[in-house]
Amino acid sequence: MEQVLLTDGVREPGASGAGEPAGGAAGTVARLRATFATGRTRPTAWRRRQLRALRALLTEQAPALTEALALDLGKSPVETHTSELGFVVNEIDHTLRHLERWLRPRRVPVPLTLLPARARTVREPLGVVLVISPWNYPVMLGLAPLVGALAAGNCAVLKPSELAPATSAVLARLLPRHLDPDAVAVVEGAAERTTDLLEQRFDHILYTGNGTVGRIVMTAAARHLTPVTLELGGKCPVLVEPGTDLAAAARRIVWGKFLNAGQSCTAPDHVLAIGGTAGPLADHLADAITSMYGTDPARSPDYGRIINDRHFDRLTALLGDGRPVIGGEHDRATRYLAPTVLADVDPDAPVMAEEIFGPILPVLSLPDLDTAVAFVNARAKPLALYAFTPHRETRRRLLTETSSGAVGFGLPNAHLTLPGLPFGGVGESGTGSYHGQYSIETFSHTKAVLDKPLRPDTVRAVYPPFTAAKERLIRRFT
Ligand code: NAD
Repeated sequence: MEQVLLTDGVREPGASGAGEPAGGAAGTVARLRATFATGRTRPTAWRRRQLRALRALLTEQAPALTEALALDLGKSPVETHTSELGFVVNEIDHTLRHLERWLRPRRVPVPLTLLPARARTVREPLGVVLVISPWNYPVMLGLAPLVGALAAGNCAVLKPSELAPATSAVLARLLPRHLDPDAVAVVEGAAERTTDLLEQRFDHILYTGNGTVGRIVMTAAARHLTPVTLELGGKCPVLVEPGTDLAAAARRIVWGKFLNAGQSCTAPDHVLAIGGTAGPLADHLADAITSMYGTDPARSPDYGRIINDRHFDRLTALLGDGRPVIGGEHDRATRYLAPTVLADVDPDAPVMAEEIFGPILPVLSLPDLDTAVAFVNARAKPLALYAFTPHRETRRRLLTETSSGAVGFGLPNAHLTLPGLPFGGVGESGTGSYHGQYSIETFSHTKAVLDKPLRPDTVRAVYPPFTAAKERLIRRFT
């Protein structure tokens, strides 16, 4: 296995992914379209078989995937189990449990004027869908959308991120081997390969990544009128109010922030510490970091690394902002950046300009909740907003006075592990959602069906010519 990983890991970006025939992107899509046209992917039995095979891949091939994630991101095996492999297994189990119910046609009442007749909605697969995934959770963010695409009866192309090359290579090698290779293809490579793919007509595109590429994807999709789901990022704020158990809140914030070395789309980006909580909270954050990662996090087997030099340089350039409370140590050779807390950060500082997407946590001090709400509303709608507050009224106000993809009271990140909740952003943090039943809605079309017998011909009243008697009747009932 090691040898395969090494061979695959050094594959030149842009080289053919497993399962891709000659003919490039056009050939791949044509092959999948031919499969879809046979109707093979429609029966629930086929869908269930694919999901079970994907589940088997995740358990049988866990060592190869764990090794790849360690190579790409220094991810610890426990984090890999919970936030990558186990996550997708949960999503599969939830889908297998509910699939028939989600796919069942729904009867819709028919108005008296149309009786006798029956109306219902049926779920129809879209065809061939494209999933473009990023590097930070390269298994979870590639395979969880795939679960939805297959459960909805589609063929799918997965384009993993070239920035996590070991994981991309393992997925390209294993997916066509475990799944129906004529219905699922993996195309590896960088922007050039994605550009080729985006020239093809897909029936849906789910893209996860940054907003700049999101705009490229949406523009390309518009040429074919292809619907898109954009899973983007942003700066997720954490509000902390006086009266909260600050030590407990700090532990939750530190866990949510420094998981995957801060490279999570739902990670707390910054803290808005209200009414004098900033000082004591910063101390508790430092304590929580030491208790989770030790006094030298570089030696912790549970702490990850920055994905590449470009992101490392981008992040270390932000270290000059505010007053360092803990962290700041870094080593370019190993792309290590210590869990860092910055206090007294100015709202206009560079660290507050863009999504941080790394292990730097600025703490801003704000006088009251009104100022915090205004602060949030003056910026792009975040993927998630978190709050630690003992006040019910604050919860109500945050839910009604701010807009975000999700809200987490008392715990960051965890909302996305509930397959019953939709996962997605709003405004700049994304459009559309997926997970569980929401994936079925994303990857299928809800077709309206009206079925009316020819006899008796009860709609005769609407046929011209419109006599005065007919008009009276029509006006009475419509
Ligand atoms: P990335 O660089 O891996 O890019 C994502 C995908 O876009 C890759 O497959 C890449 O090959 C492709 N791509 C890159 N440039 C392209 C181009 N010019 N044309 C076409 N395709 C191109 O990942 P990233 O964008 O750095 O990911 C980080 C961002 O993603 C952060 O903003 C983060 O918040 C967001 N994110 C969102 C979610 C979510 O579920 N909402 C999850 C993870 C990450």
